[in-house]
Amino acid sequence: MRIVLVGPPGAGKGTQAAFLAKNLSIPHISTGDLFRANITSGTDLGKQAKAYMDAGNLVPDEVTIGMAEDRLDQADAAEGFLLDGFPRNEFQARALDAYLTSHGIALDGVLDLEVPEDEVVKRIAGRRICRNNSAHVFHIDYKQPKTEGVCDECGGELYQRVDDTEATVRNRIEVYHRETEPIIDYYKRQDLVVTISALGPVADVTRRAMEALEDRRDEDGEGAA
Ligand code: ADP
Repeated sequence: MRIVLVGPPGAGKGTQAAFLAKNLSIPHISTGDLFRANITSGTDLGKQAKAYMDAGNLVPDEVTIGMAEDRLDQADAAEGFLLDGFPRNEFQARALDAYLTSHGIALDGVLDLEVPEDEVVKRIAGRRICRNNSAHVFHIDYKQPKTEGVCDECGGELYQRVDDTEATVRNRIEVYHRETEPIIDYYKRQDLVVTISALGPVADVTRRAMEALEDRRDEDGEGAA
């Protein structure tokens, strides 16, 4: 399946994407993770992206689209993928459509994770992420690690993302409303959107997401991958 995941920062896209990608045997492609990996390894692309990310603004389209397409070109994405954090505005959505069309493929669904705004701020301000794997996510109140600062899953160091401070989170939410929400309507016009609530235990959200995606796959009829 070829899926796009949308939802505000703090909706749990990264957490859900990791589970869904595993269940569906497709790669999880997160532009946020790709940027962070470039920053860590000190590439030019990382240097270009860093200031935008730290402020909670979008990295310019010309940088982002090229990076996303390079990743989609890799062999493991040939039969399907779960895109997390891309596209993030209508220009990127159109670029993705052009890319897919030129490869003779199409999206199977757009999964929209819904979560109230006050919940988003609470989730993000207390969020701590593992340096080894961004899907290992903890929270200082809701999901404390057994040992402070250490990942339960792999022993990696937990850290707070620079863009997870309250002021930056507010900006990211604003950017989400202004830039990213319009792509939900864009995809609704293509009849691709399934919306689920992202509240409640992680496993419940994954179950709702899997059910919604399976319904979509069934609707697509026979022959759909
Ligand atoms: P979240 O969804 O929790 O805000 P991400 O890890 O997806 O976090 O993204 C972090 C930052 O990376 C964004 O605030 C933005 O600066 C940059 N970024 C990620 N994806 C894109 C994109 N498609 N276009 C522009 N900037 C992006």
